[in-house]
Amino acid sequence: MEAYNNSLINCKICPRSCGVNRIEGKLGYCGSNSHYNVSSIVLHKGEEPVISGEKGICNVFFSRCNLQCIYCQNIQISCNRGDVILQVFSLDEVTNAIIDIFETNGINSLGFVSPSHYVPHVISIIENLRAKGYNPITVYNTNSYDKVETIKMLENYINIYLPDFKYSDNKLAKKLSDVSDYFEVASSAIKEMYRQKGSTIIKNDEGIAESGLIVRHLVLPGQIDNSLNVIRHIVDELSPNISVSLMAQYHPVRNLDNYPDLNRKLTQHEYEIVVKELDESGIFKGWVQELESSDNYLPDFENEHPFEK
Ligand code: SF4
Repeated sequence: MEAYNNSLINCKICPRSCGVNRIEGKLGYCGSNSHYNVSSIVLHKGEEPVISGEKGICNVFFSRCNLQCIYCQNIQISCNRGDVILQVFSLDEVTNAIIDIFETNGINSLGFVSPSHYVPHVISIIENLRAKGYNPITVYNTNSYDKVETIKMLENYINIYLPDFKYSDNKLAKKLSDVSDYFEVASSAIKEMYRQKGSTIIKNDEGIAESGLIVRHLVLPGQIDNSLNVIRHIVDELSPNISVSLMAQYHPVRNLDNYPDLNRKLTQHEYEIVVKELDESGIFKGWVQELESSDNYLPDFENEHPFEK
């Protein structure tokens, strides 16, 4: 089923600005037409405690991505060429699957994971849920390669922004994620998220966030300067009041001959350097993932429950 939206006719939803007509089935960089191509709709308990709580969040994983990170942990669903795990849903099928997870688990939180190339679909899903009497807490869990005007489109739809600020180093971004302007684009997108949500995370009686911004950063093995500069940029150009979630869960998923550091996990020494920088940066809100997390977060989308071992 297709999402009919003017922005898909001449698609410039994300900064790739391909200009293709996705309604006619033309494919741009993300290899995604206008259908609801969904790889998984699943209960997930592994996000930050204020996001998942004890009961979890319903996460929607669209297929493919507008970045192509060579180390992607979700490689089974994120490649833009060739086959990936996906199912083509109608809008009602997506929302009914979400509602089923809400009802079965007694939750009211909905996350969209790597949604940058599916923003019109995200909006339609939220509108369809509202029309059916559901008004969930919505989470936009993004790689941050988003246009400012696209983030503005989401202002009345998204409660929590969960952007991953991946790179301060554009040369590294080009090598690892096939994007040469990541730093400027992500900085501007996160600045807009900050304008919308500020630095305060508003929680409900159960301690679940209902509004806010949490900036994530995944520390990559061998790329410590990149991480240090991301932290410094958040302090200098955004605000030390922003909540930051430092992630250590990098796990090699395939052999990368040209990038030996990415064929291993993060070392304790590397992680300690970044944690120390965060501690001393002035940032005082957030989470620091345990180094052992790299053994726990590798999903398998062949499974009905990708995050369960
Ligand atoms: S969403 Fe896809 S088709 Fe549209 S601009 Fe981005 S990469 Fe290109």
